[in-house]
Amino acid sequence: MDLYEHQARELFAEHGIVVPRAEITDSAAQARVIARRLGGRAVVKAQVRTGGRGKAGGVELAADPAAAEETARRILGMDIKGHPVRTVMLAEPVDIEAEFYVSYVLDRAAGTFLAVASAEGGTEIEEVAAARPEAVARIPVDPAEGVTAAKAARIADAAGLPPEAVDVLVRLWSVLTREDALLVEVNPLVRTARGQLVALDGKVTLDDNARFRRARWGAQEGTYDDPLEADAAAKGLTYVKLDGEVGVIGNGAGLVMSTLDAVAGCGARPANFLDIGGGASARTMADGLGVILSDPAVKAVLVNVFGGITACDAVADGIVRALDSVRLTRPLVVRLDGNNAARGRALLDARAHPLIQQAATMDGAAQQAAGLALATTPLGGAGTWPST
Ligand code: GDP
Ligand code: MN
Repeated sequence: MDLYEHQARELFAEHGIVVPRAEITDSAAQARVIARRLGGRAVVKAQVRTGGRGKAGGVELAADPAAAEETARRILGMDIKGHPVRTVMLAEPVDIEAEFYVSYVLDRAAGTFLAVASAEGGTEIEEVAAARPEAVARIPVDPAEGVTAAKAARIADAAGLPPEAVDVLVRLWSVLTREDALLVEVNPLVRTARGQLVALDGKVTLDDNARFRRARWGAQEGTYDDPLEADAAAKGLTYVKLDGEVGVIGNGAGLVMSTLDAVAGCGARPANFLDIGGGASARTMADGLGVILSDPAVKAVLVNVFGGITACDAVADGIVRALDSVRLTRPLVVRLDGNNAARGRALLDARAHPLIQQAATMDGAAQQAAGLALATTPLGGAGTWPST
């Protein structure tokens, strides 16, 4: 989950990194009031979770409160790379003597963190990195050792940052580790005319796995790429949208992943990953089916449950109950095994829905579901099939 700039700066300030005075608002009239409070002049900044706001016209200096109102009104009407601007931040302008770039990012491939820093920060950092990679220092950080003052001095030295950057680098590392972030970035970190280092812009990406202890940030709109993912998360389900045509529900991440493989092994493609978790109730199952069936790409659904803590009769009950609220328009293949499997199967048999069929094994179920999905979806996808 990406934080807004104003949230990132809040974290920076809490960890002792200097940030300009600033306030946010969604009203142009209020922007004038804030500018007055800040001393008259203000930088008006679009609050959107994407970079390059400056280049897009979303960061502008206003010379007085009236100009701040006018600028805020214009920026509040903008759309930056598909992100509508709903809030602006007004910040006290800073006299910039130099712009630096500093960040820590998780390097998944290397299995470690990376400090990335440059004495040539600012809006052109991507161009600098592409044209002259040697101008951007990239130094691995062992998470067990962290960024000590000595380590920070090596990073600052490699990037050509002033000695005062050492303190900022140490504090920024504590933002990353204490706040459960996967990325923290300051661009630009500026040196003011008075020689102070100030974080003028910030980006923080939090680890979604730590969401439960970051309630402070709430469920931010735009956190999920897909509306179905947002809907599923609201229901407490672990759902990831995929590109295929076979909807998959299972209990336990490992079983669901095996099920995705089984579907792929039958020549079809899974439409999603959905784990109803251990000890799932009838309600969870009904919610899960609801999410999957609201995906129009799904041509058949495969329910694969091996009951351990989860009781198969609860799962079957959930399926039957889901039929009350969701109209089943596509075939459902169910494989129940383990805890209370016989009772679960009997419940489904008793319901005798024409679109529900049961399978004894996971592979058998995958084959049936794939066959049903492919019967309605020519391989190669819609559009490539000659219309008759
Ligand atoms: P971004 O374009 O989304 O990265 O937005 P930034 O917050 O980084 O702002 C873009 C650029 O605007 C910065 O690199 C600065 O050059 C400039 N800028 C932002 N705030 C100030 C300020 O207070 N004073 C001055 N002089 N320039 C600023
Ligand atoms: Mn920036």
